[in-house]
Amino acid sequence: MNSFFLQQLNSIVGEENIITDEEMKNHTTFKIGGPVDFFIRPVSEETLNKLIWYLSQTGREYFILGNGSNLLVSDHGYRGIVIDMSGLNGITVEGNKITAMAGAMLSKTAQTAAQNSLSGMEGLSGIPGTVGGAAVMNAGAYECEMADVVRSVRICTGGSESVLLSNREMKYGYRTSECKQRGFIVTAVEFELKSGNREEIEEKMQELALKRRKKQPLEYPSAGSAFKRPEGHFAGKLIMDAGLSGYTIGGAKISEKHCGFIVNTGRATAADVYDLINEVREKVYLRFQVKLEPEICMLGEF
Ligand SMILES: Cc1cc2nc3c(=O)[nH]c(=O)nc-3n(C[C@H](O)[C@H](O)[C@H](O)COP(=O)(O)OP(=O)(O)OC[C@H]3O[C@@H](n4cnc5c(N)ncnc54)[C@H](O)[C@@H]3O)c2cc1C
Repeated sequence: MNSFFLQQLNSIVGEENIITDEEMKNHTTFKIGGPVDFFIRPVSEETLNKLIWYLSQTGREYFILGNGSNLLVSDHGYRGIVIDMSGLNGITVEGNKITAMAGAMLSKTAQTAAQNSLSGMEGLSGIPGTVGGAAVMNAGAYECEMADVVRSVRICTGGSESVLLSNREMKYGYRTSECKQRGFIVTAVEFELKSGNREEIEEKMQELALKRRKKQPLEYPSAGSAFKRPEGHFAGKLIMDAGLSGYTIGGAKISEKHCGFIVNTGRATAADVYDLINEVREKVYLRFQVKLEPEICMLGEF
């Protein structure tokens, strides 16, 4: 059954773009995650469309992977297909608009904006995700979020025609979007930016990068902030005030540098991180009656 399926996949995306039983720890910033049945990297939008069409016809489960920077994958892995978007990574500039394919890194897109004296992405430049992942998550930092600069988003339908969603149709909210709610696949994003001064833009980016290095435990693998910001509070402060700074389960630890981050001290399992998330939620709720919601996406069985 699987060998026939593999033959079909080979004919769609090419043998060289498929890995079987690939360990997801190689593809997440947490450096955690067990094997997936098929790890596939389409190198064109047309191939991606064909693949999605075939998978929907055969009823196979799949997961779309950006840079794995907001992702916890189970130690048991995932019995399905991971579609890695990094093969779709072109960036083009036209006037004050930049179109980036979903697998392009957000940081590289922001650098391209700066090189073209385009302002608006400074706050986003240090987020370690892809353009697609950021568009779906409405990633944001330093008073700037994707919703402020996205003009439209191209969606893969599995048919020959793609669909364009405008900024308004993306229904952006805090760390969410229409694509997140409905499981749409983003293939490209058009940004609308403002003309600015290249030196000032680059200076701002460097200043924010420095701020990040000072405040965040970038020396350890992590997935960024583990929890969404609860209304009227800061997750990191609640966790610190609950006495959980440095609290550890196995190899997973609440960072002392930024209590909103869970870091992998070297040998953390997904189970360690998962248990730590749950314990923090419980302790913060008991102490402050505030419900923390994980920001990290999870894949596989926990
Ligand atoms: C050190 C560090 C700092 C961080 N700082 C910030 C920050 O300041 N602000 C912030 O918002 N986030 C931050 N993050 C979290 C993370 O970088 C963002 O959420 C980022 O946008 C995730 O992008 P990704 O490509 O890595 O997505 P992934 O982690 O690969 O995936 C995240 C979700 O998006 C989906 N997805 C990915 N690509 C697509 C696509 N093309 N189409 C449809 N769905 C897709 C996945 O299926 C998954 O559900 C940080 C993470 C780290 C490790």
